Amino acid sequence: MGKRMVVVGGVAGGASAAAKAKRENPDLEVVVYEKSGFVSYGACGLPYVLSGEIPSLERLIARTPEEFRKQGIGVHPHHEVVDINPEERVLTVFDHGEGRTFQDRYDYLVLATGARPTLPPIPGTEQAGVYTLRSMEDGERLLRALEGARRAAILGAGYIGLEVAEAFRKRGLEVTLLEAKDRPLPHWDEEVGTLLRGELERHGVEVWTGVRVLALRGSGRVEAVETSEGVVPADLVLIATGVRPNTELAQAMGVALGPTGAIATDERMRTNLEGVFAAGDVAESFHRVLGRPYWLPLGDVANKHGRTAGSVIAGKEARFHGVVGTAIFKAFRLAVATTGLSWEAALREGYRAKKAFIQSRDGAHYYPGSAPLWVELVYEEGTDRLLGGAVVAHGHGALRVDVLAALLHRRGTLEDLLALDLAYAPPYSPVWDPLLIAAQQAR
Ligand code: FAD
Ligand code: NAD
Repeated sequence: MGKRMVVVGGVAGGASAAAKAKRENPDLEVVVYEKSGFVSYGACGLPYVLSGEIPSLERLIARTPEEFRKQGIGVHPHHEVVDINPEERVLTVFDHGEGRTFQDRYDYLVLATGARPTLPPIPGTEQAGVYTLRSMEDGERLLRALEGARRAAILGAGYIGLEVAEAFRKRGLEVTLLEAKDRPLPHWDEEVGTLLRGELERHGVEVWTGVRVLALRGSGRVEAVETSEGVVPADLVLIATGVRPNTELAQAMGVALGPTGAIATDERMRTNLEGVFAAGDVAESFHRVLGRPYWLPLGDVANKHGRTAGSVIAGKEARFHGVVGTAIFKAFRLAVATTGLSWEAALREGYRAKKAFIQSRDGAHYYPGSAPLWVELVYEEGTDRLLGGAVVAHGHGALRVDVLAALLHRRGTLEDLLALDLAYAPPYSPVWDPLLIAAQQAR
């Protein structure tokens, strides 16, 4: 009889692990337990369903439970794993549909329980009209809420706050973005924050930065946000103040966490317990620039973690090679892409960090429709080692950041960047690619 692999959590990390393991080793029995009603979907698409650009939440589903079953994978939505005994390799599962508890066993276990939104410790968050955005169910609730809403306040100008601000504006809502730090996207440098603020304001978003949110006012249904800078009336409040990994189940069974508070794994996604793997937002990655574990809760990382775990469980050679911290998102016309360390983060890490920031274009100046494009390079004084960078553009030009990401994977320098043969034609780039212009300025 084949070995039994059980996956806890069926979204990005879990679904990838299950699908890959079964494909590589059809003799494996593969079972997925998922607490919510949905498996295998792209949560990253939720803002575009809210904006109306994608007509339904169902479009985000990559594979339905029926499709999994056809591949021989048992997928169980509405099933929550409530306890795991690693000595016996037995799990206790609560079936929310039937209201019953049962036990199952595993030879291999993948913990892919993801992350959940953090709520600020302020009064009033339990009221009607207050939302977070993480799951399909959250998407359903927000879509319903949008129908009657007029004024939205969004707490947090990070990835979700910025993407959803655009979605809400597209739905015709008045939007106020409330950020505790001094700029939008505060984990990156100020030049990018300034570009973002301009773009948000041009599109009618009120941006309040450096605010302390004190309470959500209302009597059962939210009416306003009380802040250190004044009161913001709102009939819909989205809390987007960050996420934390769902590690409780892992901790209870003795799985070790790493320094970031997410599950520690090796390159094969193995935890400290024999036969137990972790994948996705619940797990750490190795940061190749910092040279230490790092928590990067992103969808592409979750898929790679899961694929690695699935391959290893299926008996194949596979490794996850780590991250350099690359991300991209859209805020109205701007695509903002970052990789590695910001200048401020590099200074905090003790590097003698310098930065170059330039404005160029995404095409030749004479080419119709070419638009501005900005590049920031972060590098170490003396060695010229590249530490990070950002590209902000009107569209796909921002994907130039991937060149920087590739260099970061190899500990590249400004000299390495200058030596690259990059693509050029007037519709896509000036004759000197903006990355090369930035590197020249830095040297
Ligand atoms: P999750 O998606 O959190 O899934 C974990 C699942 O485990 C959950 O469904 C949960 O119900 C289930 N679970 C937890 N505990 C149990 C239990 N005890 N028993 C059974 N099931 C359990 N990333 C990007 O890279 N690019 C983007 O553009 C991007 N956009 C995003 C936009 C939004 C609005 C959001 C919310 C996220 C976005 N992300 C993006 C992040 C990306 O969606 C996550 O990194 C990814 O979903 C992580 O997948 P995961 O499977 O690790 O965790
Ligand atoms: P985030 O960490 O990106 O941003 C949270 C923001 O909230 C920060 O700017 C923080 O300073 C601010 N904040 C924290 N407490 C606050 C408070 N009390 N009042 C006001 N502001 C406060 O988190 P998020 O936007 O919630 O997104 C969650 C996760 O989803 C991200 O970590 C990311 O992994 C993922 N995501 C990624 C993408 C993408 O890659 N395009 C898009 C959406 C979501």
